[in-house]
Amino acid sequence: MEDCLFCRIARGEIPSRKVYEDDLLIAFHDINPARPMHLLVVPRRHIVSLQTVTADDEPVLGRMLTVARRLAEENGSPDGFRVIINNGRVGGQEVPHLHAHVVGGPEPVGPMLKRN
Ligand code: 5GP
Ligand code: ZN
Repeated sequence: MEDCLFCRIARGEIPSRKVYEDDLLIAFHDINPARPMHLLVVPRRHIVSLQTVTADDEPVLGRMLTVARRLAEENGSPDGFRVIINNGRVGGQEVPHLHAHVVGGPEPVGPMLKRN
């Protein structure tokens, strides 16, 4: 995906505050953090969202969660954290390349969703 924002970040064409990378993933600080720790864990390969994943994607999906745990410990959220994945229009996804938000900090992040 030539023009995809997170593909471009993964290729190093757009700068990011990277905190982690391996063969499957990169992770970097969200440009507009919602909590003191707000990281994005992003597959290197262009996957649009959980709406398109199959069993073949299980290695990268599993890796996203184990890396989330490690990054929370290393980036100021040792007492827990929240992982959020927005998917598609209903899920409020803005960047159409799968990513997990890993949010936290020293204080609780607050209620999960406001009830309608
Ligand atoms: P979504 O709404 O798709 O789940 O979340 C997209 C996230 O990407 C937002 O939290 C937004 O702040 C972040 N974001 C958008 N553009 C950039 C960028 O160029 N660099 C970084 N590091 N984060 C970005
Ligand atoms: Zn992409």
